Amino acid sequence: MKPVDLRGLTQGELDEYVASLGEPSYRAAQIAAWIFPRGVATFADMTDLPLALRERLEREATLSRTETVRRETSTIDGTEKLLLRYADGACIEAVVLRDAERTTGCVSTQIGCRFGCSFCATGAMGFQRNLTAGEIVEQIIALRRNVAPETLHNVVFMGMGEPLDNYDATLKAIRIANSESGLGIGARRMTISTAGVVPGIHRLAAEGLQINLAVSLNAPFQRIRATLMPIAEIYPLDDVLEALAGFARSAGRLVTLEYLLLRDINDTPEMAAELARLTRKLPCKINVICYNHTETGAYDPPSDKTVERFLALLRSRCPTVVRRVSRGSDISAGCGQLCVPRKRQR
Ligand code: SF4
Repeated sequence: MKPVDLRGLTQGELDEYVASLGEPSYRAAQIAAWIFPRGVATFADMTDLPLALRERLEREATLSRTETVRRETSTIDGTEKLLLRYADGACIEAVVLRDAERTTGCVSTQIGCRFGCSFCATGAMGFQRNLTAGEIVEQIIALRRNVAPETLHNVVFMGMGEPLDNYDATLKAIRIANSESGLGIGARRMTISTAGVVPGIHRLAAEGLQINLAVSLNAPFQRIRATLMPIAEIYPLDDVLEALAGFARSAGRLVTLEYLLLRDINDTPEMAAELARLTRKLPCKINVICYNHTETGAYDPPSDKTVERFLALLRSRCPTVVRRVSRGSDISAGCGQLCVPRKRQR
């Protein structure tokens, strides 16, 4: 039987697991404290457990763990990118972004991605596999361990992969990260970013979590959006906007629309006007960000003048528009740049 990964268990599941071993219930809390806040890598490290229990866990259970293969720091803004390798040799990239107020971990949910957005290096990798809940939780722990021991304030599920295409594992990881006995990260400090998986948005709306939702919109016209993001053929723009309105209603929260500006593709005044029209009834904020070059990408960022013209028009019609500065672009840690080529996956 495959050993159970304790890093991927909620407190309720850990309670049940400990009971199944015939151990007293307080052992579950002891084990959780080692696994999550302390983030130990082995059962041998759990020094307040009896030796016999540690040995049994070693035989019958496991803990998702990662090795840090590479760590790069941006000379522009201090953003750090980690290449992490799981026990099966699969590698992902995760990023730590810092500003004056907070430290944010950008976490991956899949190795590669099957949606193939034309501006995204992860999409160019193709899909390799989903991460498990335990592997996603371990990634957050690894970020804390490696670069942010002062505690990561926020977590965004915006790294490699489409979180809502790995719904169950991502949501379970969020519940573990959110739990007091887990990582204790407030739901409002976590953000799922999706390319627009409509059934996933509906499911998320029904979860009753105070989590933030961001959607890569990138074009206000279905035809253009579908050329940039093939997923739009499956989930058309109108359906995405309707699902977002439902999420905003049931969660009582603004949704974030991410708009990646690509030169001569979606940066015209006509696009800004249509974006404003489409979103006028949606409780949202719009983040505008310029394209980052990738090895596989065929696009360019717009000129500063074009960006200013786009923003001015949008701001004249939308209440909340933010120009997001791309961070870590010199180490390919920016939006759409995360990628671990197949030859590096073992
Ligand atoms: S932008 Fe997101 S959904 Fe699109 S290919 Fe990249 S990881 Fe996948």
